[in-house]
Amino acid sequence: MVKITKFGGSSVSSAEQFKKVKAIVESDPARGFVVVSAAGKRNSSDYKITDLLYLVNAHLQYKFTCDDLLDTIGGRFCEIAQELNLTYPIEQEFQEFRDQAKAGKVSPEYIVSRGEYFTARMMAEFLGFPFVDAADVISFNLDGSINMERTGQLLRATIGANQRFVLPGFYGSAPNGAIKLFDRGGGDITGAIVAAALGADLYENWTDVSGFLTADPRIVDNPKAISRITYAELRELSYMGASVLHEEAIFPVKDAGIPLWIKNTNRPQDVGTIISESAAKDEAEPIITGIAGKKDFVAIHVKQSHMSSEIGYIRRVLSIFERYRVSIEHMPTGIDSFAAVVQHSDVKDCLYNIIADIKTELNPDEIKVVDNLALISTVGRNMASRPGISGRLFGVLGNAGINIRMIAQGSEELDIIVGVNSDDFERAIRVIYGAFIDSEDNIITVEELERKGAF
Ligand code: ASP
Repeated sequence: MVKITKFGGSSVSSAEQFKKVKAIVESDPARGFVVVSAAGKRNSSDYKITDLLYLVNAHLQYKFTCDDLLDTIGGRFCEIAQELNLTYPIEQEFQEFRDQAKAGKVSPEYIVSRGEYFTARMMAEFLGFPFVDAADVISFNLDGSINMERTGQLLRATIGANQRFVLPGFYGSAPNGAIKLFDRGGGDITGAIVAAALGADLYENWTDVSGFLTADPRIVDNPKAISRITYAELRELSYMGASVLHEEAIFPVKDAGIPLWIKNTNRPQDVGTIISESAAKDEAEPIITGIAGKKDFVAIHVKQSHMSSEIGYIRRVLSIFERYRVSIEHMPTGIDSFAAVVQHSDVKDCLYNIIADIKTELNPDEIKVVDNLALISTVGRNMASRPGISGRLFGVLGNAGINIRMIAQGSEELDIIVGVNSDDFERAIRVIYGAFIDSEDNIITVEELERKGAF
């Protein structure tokens, strides 16, 4: 089994964290390919090395002295090297980098990339793995996209028979050899690209949380973690506001059918979240995978008798939204009425123009605007073909006195979306959570996941 094991900034923020990484890597011989971010925060009031390097660039650009900043960055690296008794000459190497940066000999992107470079250098020695520079193997096209074919070739040629390396995340090189960065948080993207390019069986992403949560912890106290989710469910949840991985970090592994496992470096015993292309429907698994939602939607209801038999009526209404470049999020329909649900921010300057145009061009019997609408998506692949779930959902909201103002369900039965008053948003999420997730015993163990072929 080939695994790509990526560690985020907080997992490599200190000598103590380096030791945890080593224990994790050494506990499984399949963990040969390691990708690291730059050393991150050691606690909530600390700084990320990458942020400090961006600050160095800003100082250099405006010709301010940045010796203190460089001292802080170099100091962080030296501290790790000393505590771990590393022989890598970090002090000299950092001094050389510092001189080059101050003399304007290196690009801003090169400067920022040194966070992952030095972190990976030290990690390579600490693990006893060869170091591979991302500049030599991660190859960008001229348009900024990744050249997967060339990256794959370069990676395979570099690895040879040696099934191990430590690779810095977050950067690669442009066709002219210059260092090029991914977006912020791009270490996750490097890991996914390497996994896809090497045809890995699993992409492990080690961070400081035990996976995705079933609901927003600012709304629900201590929500349970999601142990297993499909890429499609994840897309629904992230679209509805759940903060998840960088989308670009998901595409390469999703397209290659490689499962992605989120694990916690500080609590490796926790199951974490495994994301895969498909997961067989399983009665024993939770019905609901997660709940997410967003506020600030507006519904424009249009009613016209005999609309259902008038060909092109809805299309003509929708073309008015298109004219104002407003994207329609949902469109619940009745026999002779329908509603266009849009984001408030998209129509804040053009709502009255849209309504005026609908009136002039289509002259409907009634047009009504409902604002302050919040949408809540209850997502679960196991809901499909299980009768009674929506009834139960509407029932518990009704019992709690929450008025449902809109209902939508995707054709794959992956989610049920309800629209409620924005004031009821948080309470509705808590009610759904209480009824479905909290009340179920849905803890899955790693052994069970393995037995079910999750990875
Ligand atoms: N170090 C980079 C950042 O802070 C990339 C990463 O952490 O994945 O954005």
